[in-house]
Amino acid sequence: MKKALLVIDYTVDFVAEDGALTCGEPGIALEPYITGLTKEFLDEGHFVVMPVDVHDLDDPYHPETKRFPPHNIRGTAGRNLYGTLQDLYEERKEEIHWMDKTRFSAFAGTDLELLLRARGITEIHLVGVCTDICILHTSVDAFNRGFDLVVHEKGVASFDLAGHEWALRHFENTLGAVVVR
Ligand code: ZN
Repeated sequence: MKKALLVIDYTVDFVAEDGALTCGEPGIALEPYITGLTKEFLDEGHFVVMPVDVHDLDDPYHPETKRFPPHNIRGTAGRNLYGTLQDLYEERKEEIHWMDKTRFSAFAGTDLELLLRARGITEIHLVGVCTDICILHTSVDAFNRGFDLVVHEKGVASFDLAGHEWALRHFENTLGAVVVR
């Protein structure tokens, strides 16, 4: 069975202490696990995708504009990957598929499904932030498209601990995901 790794929104704005919309310490703590897992998937020749939020400043048509402070603005360093993941990306750019996304789900308005189907991929591994927002929405869309899901507990985090814990239960009990503890 072919598998892919989606590293979702592990960017400076979402993770760094001074990020524009940071999930803070729980996000920072994921760094070694996410970088290690990404390297492992690359070394084994699996498809690795970095779906990364992109916004235009004060976009009046975007549903997040009124709800959140500006984050992941096109062309800013806030969209760089966080820490050692950025270093790994710089080193192995050719092997990694960067994907701009504008909604919580990595499937919304992107060609992600086409890319996965073309490669015969049936199992999607998820890491990144936030567990109860972008990981959740991506998982639901993957579930509805019939993909098998694996969520790495050590690779996901949220600013909202209750939301994080609820989402992990939802992945396992409702979406039938394998949650790697
Ligand atoms: Zn956003």
